Amino acid sequence: MHKVERIEEPAILLINKMQWTKQLLEQIEICGDYKSVDKQYKERYRTQQVKAALQKMYKGLCCYCEYMLDISDYSHIEHLKPKCRPEFHKLTFEWDNLHLACNRCNNNKGDKWDEQRPFIDPTKEEPTEFIVYDDLGYAKAVHDNLRGQFLIDSVQLNRAGLLKGRRIVIIQLLKHFDEVETIQGVQAVCEHYERLIEEGVSFCTIFRNFIEKYKNIHK
Ligand SMILES: [Zn+2]
Repeated sequence: MHKVERIEEPAILLINKMQWTKQLLEQIEICGDYKSVDKQYKERYRTQQVKAALQKMYKGLCCYCEYMLDISDYSHIEHLKPKCRPEFHKLTFEWDNLHLACNRCNNNKGDKWDEQRPFIDPTKEEPTEFIVYDDLGYAKAVHDNLRGQFLIDSVQLNRAGLLKGRRIVIIQLLKHFDEVETIQGVQAVCEHYERLIEEGVSFCTIFRNFIEKYKNIHK
């Protein structure tokens, strides 16, 4: 996970969210429970504008596992605070609660929520203060903090596919940096990867860690 700047709220939410929220809450009242409410009231956030804004904000990466989406994996508009929990129904159309996630992270997380260990919000907090990657690509909770560990477990940030992907990136980066012999060469490699991060690249935090490490070594 990495920090992102939240971009401007899409106009469609700004204009409609009050009415959409009011109607959703009314429907829950009428139907007696959230599950019975028709999708037309629950899923109005699913618009091209909202999805495009989130893809731009996250450079096409899942907010949890940082895997590039919409290549082989359909992306989801993710509610950090799960919209199906009664206390969060009212946040269904709140821009601040919307993120981008891959199918796997989205399904694993489901409607989990723990008020004592709230999920880290990458638009409001610095995720690397809670979760880091070790040399083998495992996600670890910094100083065993409970919030980081709860997120790692809930989303399954150390599932096999992700570990394999991170390790391949680590092996490539190690080789590339080790082959460089001069300070100028290291700088050029760092700049190359900074451009990739700027474009949006899967597992970008691993790239950032390498840039940080090698820049410091050659100071
Ligand atoms: Zn993911």
